[in-house]
Amino acid sequence: MSHSMINRLISRLATGLGAASLLVASGAVAAPQLLVVNAKVFTADRALPYAEAVAIEDGRILAVGSNEQIRALGGPKSRTIDAGGRLVTPGLVEAHVHLGVELPTPPLAMPNLPIPGPTAEQALAAVAEAAKTRTEWITGYVGPLVARDRRNWRKALDDVAPNSPVFLKGWWGHTSIVNSEGLRRLGITESITDPLGGWWGRDENGRLDGRAYEAAETITPRIRPPTPERLAAAFGEAQQRYARWGVTSIHLMNNDKSLEVTLAGLVLAKPAQKWTVYSWGAWETPPERIAGAWTVIDAAAKQAPAKVRVEGPKWMLDGTPIEQNSLQRESYGNRPGWHGRSNFTDRQLKEILLLALARPTHLALHVVGDAETDRLLKIMEELAPASAWQAKRIRIEHGDGIRQNTTEQAARLGVVVIQNPTHLGLPPVAGEKILDRSMPLKSLVAAGIPLAFGSDGGPKEQNPFLNLMLATLYSAEPGEALTREAALTAYTAGGAFAEGQEQRKGRIALGLAADLAVLSQDILTVPVQQLPATTSLLTLVDGEVIFEDAALASRQ
Ligand SMILES: [Zn+2]
Repeated sequence: MSHSMINRLISRLATGLGAASLLVASGAVAAPQLLVVNAKVFTADRALPYAEAVAIEDGRILAVGSNEQIRALGGPKSRTIDAGGRLVTPGLVEAHVHLGVELPTPPLAMPNLPIPGPTAEQALAAVAEAAKTRTEWITGYVGPLVARDRRNWRKALDDVAPNSPVFLKGWWGHTSIVNSEGLRRLGITESITDPLGGWWGRDENGRLDGRAYEAAETITPRIRPPTPERLAAAFGEAQQRYARWGVTSIHLMNNDKSLEVTLAGLVLAKPAQKWTVYSWGAWETPPERIAGAWTVIDAAAKQAPAKVRVEGPKWMLDGTPIEQNSLQRESYGNRPGWHGRSNFTDRQLKEILLLALARPTHLALHVVGDAETDRLLKIMEELAPASAWQAKRIRIEHGDGIRQNTTEQAARLGVVVIQNPTHLGLPPVAGEKILDRSMPLKSLVAAGIPLAFGSDGGPKEQNPFLNLMLATLYSAEPGEALTREAALTAYTAGGAFAEGQEQRKGRIALGLAADLAVLSQDILTVPVQQLPATTSLLTLVDGEVIFEDAALASRQ
């Protein structure tokens, strides 16, 4: 779109016809390419929260208003889509997902996944059975029962699989276990040094015990390095699923792979949605070379294809309550005296934060424990005034550790929180809730903390409407439940804000990208249990159709 067009779009004309006012560019414009009429338009924009119709030109929102007003803008070349009274929403922004990181070989069948997952004995029995016939990598997902079992896993696995390489992984990340043959095949010897942000587990004699923690957990790509072709297949599948849910932007947390291979995979997949790739700080960063993470971003950003942006880096500041390594104020209930741990020293965290202030990209931080969150906010206060942080918009991925007494501080420091309501669906482990306290949602919004939503899903668990259901239902803590509008705003405008793109997308407002979806049902009013069944009937990215359901096409 030309600059003159943008300038014209800036001006607003409110005609005040009927309940819906019209927002439209002033001056003469060509007939819009696409009109969506007869809709309930939720705009996520305070200037005009609801409307009936939208006009789109050059990939942008040209006008928002009543059916009559928008139809009047049409010309002979305009395509008009009758939404049949359905809900039209800004395209959803999936603000946190992991893709292209499957186990390197088909995983063993394990009972009771995801929670509590197999017992240690069940996991060992499954490995023993497989080791009778397999000499190649034996892999499997495990749950918290194995992750929290502090036996020497290298020795235990060696006893049942002395000649086969074995790799067990927590389905949520944050737990990796390898036996001796596995370590040998990976070329990992006793002299290996701990990477930045992670460590190798060792027994009382200092010998590797088979556990890799946090940034040391790059086992999967060591066994089977990612290729652009395989990533393209994973990204392409995800794009199709997301298009059917009305998702138009994807924030990819790029764990276990380089920016270079991910960008090559996206080129092959041909981006349909807008991708923002959050570089993985720990990826191949040599020890004590934090600045290297930003150098990689600078180089990669220049090669990003259309519709793809590079952001980050993302660092993992602690673990999670599932394996009990997130840093908590109170010790874990079943493990007196154990509070979890930080992945970085104060000095390292300061360096990360100072680099973030100096560099243009957004820093994303996985912070889960309340004590780790306290530490982060305290160090931010020490390093720079609140105004500097507000301009920087530090992303906290998983804001579970923001407590009542740090909410105001977090708001003042301008952090943006990406929540994953899917975590609310996790059942207890051995009778104990995994999240010992409630995940804040409503209290964050009330304090003015910008909120975005992501699924935190792997390859197949990304349904945004399940996330919306969990955030609005929140039966465990009704006081933190969001209204449907607030949840949908977090999923749209909130996601765009979290990546600094709120002036370009995330709302149905003049001049913004025409990223929107016509949904199969009104997610603002249907019974809450029906939300996960929602699909998109029409998904537009920059005004281009990336998914269209035959049911809607027949109504034109
Ligand atoms: Zn995640």
